[in-house]
Amino acid sequence: MVEESEERSLDFVRQIVADDLAKGKFRQSVTRFPPHPNGYLHIGHAKSICLNFGIAQDTGGVCHLRFDDTNPVAEDPHFVDSMQEDIRWLGFDWGEHLYYASDYYEQLYEHACTLIRKGDAFICDLSSEEIAERRGTLTEPGEASPFRDRPADESLDLFERMRAGEFEPGARVLRARIDMGSSVLPMRDPILYRILDTPHHRTGNTWPIYPMYDFAHSLSDAIEHITHSICTLEFQDRRPLYDWVLERVGIPEPRPRQYEFAELSLSRTILSKRFLGQLVGEGAVAGWDDPRMPTLSGMRRRGFTPESIRAFCDGVGVARRDNTIQLERLHFEVREHLNQVAPRAMGVLRPLKLVVENYPEDREEELPAVNNPQDPQAGTRLVPFSRELWIERDDFLEDPPKKFHRLSPGKEVRLRYAYLVTCTEVVKDASGAVVEIRARYDPETRGGDAPDGRKVRGTIHWVSARHAVPAEVRLYEPLFEEEDPMAAAEDGDFMKLLRADSLEVVDPAWLEPSLGEAPIGLRLQLERLGYFSVDPDSTAGRPVLNRTVTLRDSWAKIAKPKASR
Ligand code: ATP
Ligand code: MG
Repeated sequence: MVEESEERSLDFVRQIVADDLAKGKFRQSVTRFPPHPNGYLHIGHAKSICLNFGIAQDTGGVCHLRFDDTNPVAEDPHFVDSMQEDIRWLGFDWGEHLYYASDYYEQLYEHACTLIRKGDAFICDLSSEEIAERRGTLTEPGEASPFRDRPADESLDLFERMRAGEFEPGARVLRARIDMGSSVLPMRDPILYRILDTPHHRTGNTWPIYPMYDFAHSLSDAIEHITHSICTLEFQDRRPLYDWVLERVGIPEPRPRQYEFAELSLSRTILSKRFLGQLVGEGAVAGWDDPRMPTLSGMRRRGFTPESIRAFCDGVGVARRDNTIQLERLHFEVREHLNQVAPRAMGVLRPLKLVVENYPEDREEELPAVNNPQDPQAGTRLVPFSRELWIERDDFLEDPPKKFHRLSPGKEVRLRYAYLVTCTEVVKDASGAVVEIRARYDPETRGGDAPDGRKVRGTIHWVSARHAVPAEVRLYEPLFEEEDPMAAAEDGDFMKLLRADSLEVVDPAWLEPSLGEAPIGLRLQLERLGYFSVDPDSTAGRPVLNRTVTLRDSWAKIAKPKASR
């Protein structure tokens, strides 16, 4: 659909990039995705990945993957690996442009020395609490550090000794010397370096001092010749500091510039590596890739496709105004894509025995079933039929309301791809619960159509009991009921809001035999029940399925984004 994407109007970030390229400000756009490796990537990061890598793709530019590993606390090489895997899975490639901020430590140190020599930075001996106390407020200026006018030589010497590991963490810091009266709080002599005794996952114990985000980020962008440094709105206040660092250090024009967009918020979802890590750490979910997690690895395991996540990110757009996107909209995109690509199969989640009385006990036959009505290339498969079947408990009602078109006493229903059957008897146990349905089939209706043209409205799915494969099926609900769990949580204790019923395990469910050896990762539709993925927990002959989404489009009810495609 080339035309569609050409016609699509550009979001404000893409417009800025297009204008800069048109003006010849840059030959090529260079963007970056700069995750801090302290957790797994989530759907919010996907939005940033799609934007940064998307700009590179659309404009013939490049996009760097840079690990912003300037805070060794909570960083882990395992996260570095998982992030790369997830970005590739989403469909993006950084080529040779894989970078680590930690590779720039030496250069960053030199730049810091430059600032000290110019009188733009000083070593401050106040504790972090004392610094915070003197920061002032939005209405009151801050109070200058007593070390603010320390001679450059002295600061330089102390900074070298900090690097040499002479001082304890917290003993002193390097601060920019900007303006304690600035209306922009991050400009009030911000901390640029601090002492930490945590070893780093790449530099080990080489560095006892670590640069702060604003200093490291702006300079990493400059070192890599980033043209457009795109981040979320919370960094807006720090843009003056970003510019100040680059200018004072003497980075020549054209310098990288920072642009902010509204981060993705998703209803009933927490998007923060730290809090998601808490769910994992406290055992509320099975791991970072639990199918209930909004992480890319969780969504992959659940059965979401990269195409649907990209379509979602594309559809929600890039703006400067915060708004919450309904989770249903993401599910809508997943459903749309799986409808095109997922093979169909039959399975029964809540089994009820149906005995076809007039079908001979020793007989069985194979009936052709369509693999994907959306995809003629997908062909057909053969599904075995026999006298005893499993049907869905919900598809039978002894005393049905008027519009119930499924099975009930005396009523005729179509068994998908098989025969028309009429319910003749209901078998109950001593407590009165229905345990079996008996029916007669019409041998003239093979394939599901009556030669006399009589109308049968209901069609239900089924599985031959003799051939059925037992499976564990995991059904999911969102982890939280609340639109905005963090806002609803008292004292930030969102753990209390976790739903008890976010995972329901159905065991055994019965599947048609073609699924007995379904490969891990396969995505399929169980007719009338939803889309599913084959979980890595599956063992030979015993699949474990995750329900990805149901077939019901609840997004349509909330707001139809565009006519369904
Ligand atoms: P988290 O709070 O989940 O840990 P972060 O912003 O601290 O996220 P980073 O690893 O620094 O995590 O994020 C890498 C990039 O992804 C940043 O440029 C950040 O702005 C962007 N990003 C993070 N969360 C979102 C979101 N919800 N929507 C859009 N972009 C996001
Ligand atoms: Mg964040």
